[in-house]
Formats: sequence, structure tokens, C-alpha cells
Amino acid sequence: MQFYGGYDIRLAGKPSAVLQELPEPESLHIPLWSRRFSFSKLEVSEGERVEQGQVIARDTQNFSVPLLSPRRGTVCLNKYENHITLEDIESAGEEPFDPDNLQTHVSHGRWGVGGMKRFQLKEQGIWEFFSDAHTGALPDPMAQPGGVIVTTLNLEPFAARGKVQLERRLNSFTRGLEHLQSLLEYQPIYLIMPEIDSDIAEEIRRRIQGYAFVRIITVKLTYPYGSPALIARKLGPVHNPKHPVWALDVAGVLAIDRSLTHSLPATIKIITIGGPAASNPRHLMAVAGYPLASLLDGEISAENPRVINGGVFNGETLNSGQHGLDSECRGFTVLEEPKEAAFLGWMRPGLKKKSFSHAFLGSLTASSTDKVETTLNGEKRPCISCQNCERVCPVQILPYQIHKDLYRDALEEVEHSGTELCMDCGLCTYVCPSKIDLRGEITEARRRLREELRPEGEGTENNSAEE
Ligand code: SF4
Ligand code: SF4
Repeated sequence: MQFYGGYDIRLAGKPSAVLQELPEPESLHIPLWSRRFSFSKLEVSEGERVEQGQVIARDTQNFSVPLLSPRRGTVCLNKYENHITLEDIESAGEEPFDPDNLQTHVSHGRWGVGGMKRFQLKEQGIWEFFSDAHTGALPDPMAQPGGVIVTTLNLEPFAARGKVQLERRLNSFTRGLEHLQSLLEYQPIYLIMPEIDSDIAEEIRRRIQGYAFVRIITVKLTYPYGSPALIARKLGPVHNPKHPVWALDVAGVLAIDRSLTHSLPATIKIITIGGPAASNPRHLMAVAGYPLASLLDGEISAENPRVINGGVFNGETLNSGQHGLDSECRGFTVLEEPKEAAFLGWMRPGLKKKSFSHAFLGSLTASSTDKVETTLNGEKRPCISCQNCERVCPVQILPYQIHKDLYRDALEEVEHSGTELCMDCGLCTYVCPSKIDLRGEITEARRRLREELRPEGEGTENNSAEE
């Protein structure tokens, strides 16, 4: 498969392969929102004692997906706004139960039709791992997809590595693929693998040799080539809302197996803490609601840090009103926030600095890693038409042209510029020497196009729950 653009980014602060289990906290503060969800319908009341895995709230706008209680505990609704706090918590003791090697293949006939399985996946919190590869939205659990993309790669610099999640869970992964196939009729599963050889990649290939339903797509270790959004655009550029392409990652396949082989809900997650201002970048095992004050305590080396919920390219600055790990969080990136720009920084040869356009001497040391901070590329300036953004864009749109059309408010021209193809990888923003937030502008342009140019009544989401 031929890819365009992309950038082999090497940033300091990559999480090590160490996977550490966090100590059990005294209480959990579970946010009632996450990146895609708003759990507006409470299913519990003040003082109620809830069980591990019990539904405590639902998102009525997203097929009623549930928010699960990660521990047994007593509900407190007034501790923090928009959170459910669990006090007097206890683990039901299912961890560190590791069933991985008990069973190698799916026990057929156990759950009957695919619909029952999908329902179970939804009720056990696994449906949240699915997304529409083109739009990123939650797909309808009861609709038939056009295909499924499973990626073993997340090439964002500080994201959880598939290898860390797969180690000691290969049986679970291949069994999860079998379960996934049993949800489909005949649609293929596209498995995205790295081009390089590694023991784990080799073992996965060996195990799925007889799986006619799996098609392997190999990609270079270049950001964002492992992204399902990019693969979906390559497989078929047109989004079909009736048969969307589902996407999920290694954690999602492991969660499917956990649910459909062992009837266990998705309450434990692997997250990362990384970035140049993280004092000990690594992988962590945690539950939703884990107090952020404890989780980030001692983890930040900068005096003036910025903590990003998610990756450095498409995460969001951590909301100060968030007190616990949200249900979709995959990790935190910590950057230094310098108080002022470097004095006469532009006069220096940049021995320790790199850039996409190789403007600094540091670009000669190709093997070293770069240190990214929030003033990367200095102050915001007008576009200098360098076309860096065009060269990195993996979907071949012209971010600088969109920026200029938006500047003169020519929304009709933006409509024909391919903004719907943008997959939010953020590379254009990263390489822009004028520090223009191109990704943010394109996201905003898509929103305006939907609201201002769409004929009335078109595109209303049919988001009703299937029950
Ligand atoms: S325009 Fe979109 S897809 Fe292209 S580089 Fe920017 S964020 Fe990525
Ligand atoms: S990278 Fe920035 S400065 Fe260069 S063309 Fe694109 S928008 Fe303009």
C-alpha cells in the first residue's frame, strides 16, 4: 500500500516498555465525560453500594453505552462536579487472574448469534473500543460494517505500544480476532502490522496463517501510517454511513476476548505517561477514576508543565476540572511550558534542534531524539508558503490553502478543499514554522461546513439506542 506524506518523528520522552501496576487508591473519581462520551443518565444514587463492573451511568446519545464501576464501592455524587466518586472501595479480586493460557480457541456456539455477542460487548464496556475509521465516532453496535481495521501500531510518539500490550497475551489476541470475526458476516479484518521483523510480529503472522478472514497490511514505522483512519481512506475513500469501517486497536481485541471468553468487563486499562517533562516515562495499569493527583504525583520534572490528555498530536490539554482518569484515556503527555521565548533564539545554529525542513545543524544527527515543548517553532507568524504542511499531509490536502481561504472567510472554496479527508493527525501543525494551528483550523472548518452550508434537515444523526 502506497502512502504519502508522514514523518518519522523521534521525540525524547518515549514511554519505556515497563508496565507498572498502580497501588490501589482510597477512592475513585470517575468523570461523567470523555473525549467522545457524555454519561448523562445516572444509574446509581447517593450512598448506594455498587459492584465491580456494574453500570453506573449511560450515554444516551451514543447507543446507551454504559460507564462501568471499576471497583466495588459506595457512591458519592457531590464530591466533584460531573464525577461519580466511589469510596470504601474494594477490588472484587478478579485481578491479577490471568486466564490467557487456559484456552486457545473460541468455544463455538457458546453465545449464539452475533447480536447477542454485540450486546454483551456493549454492556461490558467493550464497545467503547470501537470507532468508525472514517469519522472516529462510535459505530452502531447492531449495524453491519463494511470491514474492520485492527491496528497493532500507534505511532504517536508517547502512545501505548502494541508490543507492551501483546506480551504474554498472544493467545488472547488471536482468540479475540476469532471472536471479532464471529460478529461479522463475510467482511474482512485488515490487520495492520509493522514492516520490520520482530519476534512478536513473526509469531502473530504464524498464528493467523490459517485465518482466511484476516488480511495483513504492513506499514513503515512512520507516523501516522498505522492509523486506521488512513488505511480506511486508502481502502475506499468514501465513507458509507450504512456500512462503516470499524476500527479498533490491540487493547480492543484483548477486551473482546476478555468479554466473550471469560465474561469479564473492561475495567482495567493500560495507559502511558510520557513526554520530555515526564520524570519516568512508562506504561501503567490503572482503572477509570484513578485520582489524577496521585497518578501524576512525582511524575513531572518541569517547573511549569502542560499535561495533555492523550497524544502530543491530537490530545487535549488536561481540563483542570477533571479529577480522575476518564474511561477513554489512553495516557498523558507532559511538556514543558517555557515562560518566555528563548532570547535571540533565531540567531543560534541549533546544534540541539531539529526541524522538518532541516533548518538547524541538529538535523545532521539523525539518530538522536528531539525535545518538544509548548513553544516549538516560537511565536505565531503569517504563513511563509514553505509548503511543509502539504508535504507531510498523508491524505494529500493543502492545509496552507485552507488556512488562507479561511482567513478571507471563503467557506465555499474550503468546501471543495477535501477537509472531510483530514484525519486529525496533527502533522501539519507540528511542522509549520509559523506555528499555525492548521489541524485546529481544519477541524473548525469542518464544523462550520456542517452547520453553515448543509441544507436544512440533512445529516441528522440517527443515534437511537437499539434496545
Ligand atoms: S490536514 Fe489533516 S490529515 Fe493532513 S496533516 Fe493536517 S491534520 Fe493531518
Ligand atoms: S507549513 Fe505553515 S508556513 Fe509553511 S506553508 Fe504550511 S501553513 Fe504556511
